Amino acid sequence: MKDCIYLDNNATTKIDEDVLSAMLPYLIDYYGNPSSAHSFGKQAKKAIYQARIQVSSLLGAKNSEIVFTSCGTEGDNMAILSSLKTKSNKNHIITTKVEHSAILNLCTKLEKEGYIITYLSVDRKGQIDLNELQNSLSENTALVSIMYANNETGVIFPIEEIGNIVKQYDVIFHVDGVQIVGKVPLNMKNSTIDLLTLSAHKIHGPKGIGCLYVRENIKLQPLLVGGNQEYKRRGGTENVAGIVGLGKAAELATIYLNTAPKVKYLRDKLEKGILSTISNTFINGDIHNRLFNTTNIGFQDIEGEGILSYLDKFKIYASSGSACTSGSVEPSHVLKALKIPYNILHGSIRFSLSRFTKESEIDYVLEILPNIINQLRNIYSLRENESKQLKESNIIVAI
Ligand code: PLP
Repeated sequence: MKDCIYLDNNATTKIDEDVLSAMLPYLIDYYGNPSSAHSFGKQAKKAIYQARIQVSSLLGAKNSEIVFTSCGTEGDNMAILSSLKTKSNKNHIITTKVEHSAILNLCTKLEKEGYIITYLSVDRKGQIDLNELQNSLSENTALVSIMYANNETGVIFPIEEIGNIVKQYDVIFHVDGVQIVGKVPLNMKNSTIDLLTLSAHKIHGPKGIGCLYVRENIKLQPLLVGGNQEYKRRGGTENVAGIVGLGKAAELATIYLNTAPKVKYLRDKLEKGILSTISNTFINGDIHNRLFNTTNIGFQDIEGEGILSYLDKFKIYASSGSACTSGSVEPSHVLKALKIPYNILHGSIRFSLSRFTKESEIDYVLEILPNIINQLRNIYSLRENESKQLKESNIIVAI
């Protein structure tokens, strides 16, 4: 897709061509099974070893602390279920109301099985109250699972401050790092984090591969039991090409950390441009502590889905964060948790940029978006007038 403007990088990212080139030989030429005893299999095993080094150096971790998974969702599930097994004498989990569904839907399931879940609330900026966290912790808490950066608003939580509170108790601290990894430097060596999830397709790697960082003193209880792969922590023949792709993406992420100011400049240009040319627009979430590539903007009194489908006609791709459930559009649970007023929440759009975003693309969006919003607002006010008139005439008939 050459001429599209892709501003949905928190959903997934374009694979870097160097990543693809690194992967291809492991699909075509070196397709051996890494568990095979022959030298052909050993080539694949070596490639996994190399990828483990690349990922661990991105995280400032030890090679042995990396467990490859099939995706971020698996990493999140593995972290929670393993922690509950390790702390089997406890049944309390603390998380937040704004986590990804990979965490929230699992917690809902666990609640039905008898676990007690505390969902920390957030304020209008999308930040948790550290006192609420402190007061929620108890001797019965097995696990605290909190995301580093929110996928919808980009809001970043003060993870190390949170970790310092959590570590006053004998609790496992899991962090969903899917949106933060590759955007800010991380160093697990000096961190309070016990378990950290990442996913390759958010860092210009392939889909279907991720990893869970597991601090060396934490015993991981495998989710998939089978062979002895991943040092007996995850059974199943390894996705060698995927792992190689994740390794290369991790290596490139370290190199391209320096593109952050350029991406931030473009995000700010987009945001300021929208706010200054379109009336009644608002930024959702903490404008200071958030990812440099993300802006979530509420356009008052219109439907986000309408904006998206107009943008789609111009091959501009963004996201509303809403989920279509049985035909109706459910507003985002994240924006609901921030208590964004109804008429802004429904018209909220997330634009998420990447190192591949061009200034000309941002300029183009700024050129056409005011017209789109104008047209939509006209349509909505016409509709509203019509339904008002209809209501009034019904009243007359009723009289
Ligand atoms: N956690 C967060 C914060 C995410 O944004 C996502 C994906 O959007 C996931 C977890 C799930 O990752 P995956 O798509 O690799 O399963």
